[in-house]
Amino acid sequence: MENILITGGCGFIGSNFIRHIYHAHPNFRIFNIDVLTYAGNPENLRDIERLESEKPKNERRYQFICGDICDDKLLAGIFSMYDFSLVINFAAETHVDRSIISMTDFIRTNIGGVRALIEAVRNYEVPRFVHISTDEIYGDVLQGYSTEDTMLRPSNPYSSSKAAADLIVQSFIRTHRVPAIIIRGSNNYGPYQYPEKLIPLAVTNLIEGKKIPVHGKGGHMRSWLHVEDFCRAIDLIATQGPLYEIFNVSGEEKTNLEVLTMIARHLGKDLSVHKEHINDRPGADLRYAPDSTKLKKALGWQPMHRIEDSMGDVAQWYLNNREWWNAIKTKKEFLEHYVKQSKGQWS
Ligand code: NAD
Repeated sequence: MENILITGGCGFIGSNFIRHIYHAHPNFRIFNIDVLTYAGNPENLRDIERLESEKPKNERRYQFICGDICDDKLLAGIFSMYDFSLVINFAAETHVDRSIISMTDFIRTNIGGVRALIEAVRNYEVPRFVHISTDEIYGDVLQGYSTEDTMLRPSNPYSSSKAAADLIVQSFIRTHRVPAIIIRGSNNYGPYQYPEKLIPLAVTNLIEGKKIPVHGKGGHMRSWLHVEDFCRAIDLIATQGPLYEIFNVSGEEKTNLEVLTMIARHLGKDLSVHKEHINDRPGADLRYAPDSTKLKKALGWQPMHRIEDSMGDVAQWYLNNREWWNAIKTKKEFLEHYVKQSKGQWS
């Protein structure tokens, strides 16, 4: 058995990734450290916890640790105890809208947390560290595509904090030869996504008969990647990828309005009645366009989902799991932010 540490595993991508590796790698004993911010939800991994509870204690392969990646002492304790062979960092503050209103938590976790984690990786000589970064750090790409060598020009506080983290990891690779790999993913969609993000917000608002707030004219172009395709890419890179490298992982280019049109069609709704155009984000990026040729050539990864074909299943997941998102959307934490988000208020 190998001990693997996942950070931020109760969030959207982290929980999908834990589910993926739990089934794909029976030789992994998975530790999930998550401080459970508003975006962290233990319900995202109930199925895994149920499977584990049916096993004898000595055969269990999943353990949750409620803790903060900024906490050096806690990290020292678990790194010395478990001798991890792989650490993958998903933990972050991730919502651009929230970062425009206040950047404090973004600096703390996205920069301070990565500093603490990579120092622990270095001190305890972990043989592989994978940092999950984002295509947003390239900033607006009006023409052409971003390769791994393209200059970083982040536009908003979220992406600048992620760019800082990406550079910290690069500097530890160069200065300390820390055995790290950076993965820059594009916009993910799929089950268990916190319903402040475009796709789950649109699906759940349509189910509830509410309007969908659309930034500006809705022409922003994103590279949409199904979370299962991203998880397969991370698994491949983390277990077989060459150290010290950076890999983009991209999806399909669609504008926000194109995505919303697909969702409305699958739910049998008329988008023109349900969309409400609001102020755009200040400094909004019009297009992200990462190029994942390097990953395809090096490791043979290919996406298995096409967004047109997958959107029906994703919408159906939210239809089938109303209890899951209703519990989130009725919480004070969600409602307080949504008042601002739905009106395009940025302070
Ligand atoms: P998310 O917001 O759904 O989940 C983040 C998780 O991190 C939550 O469970 C939260 O409780 C946890 N967390 C936050 N601060 C923490 C701290 N200090 N210590 C421990 N845990 C903490 O995020 P997501 O959408 O799943 O994104 C995961 C990672 O992937 C992030 O690093 C993000 O930047 C990156 N990414 C996301 C996307 C996307 O489309 N969602 C695309 C590319 C890259």
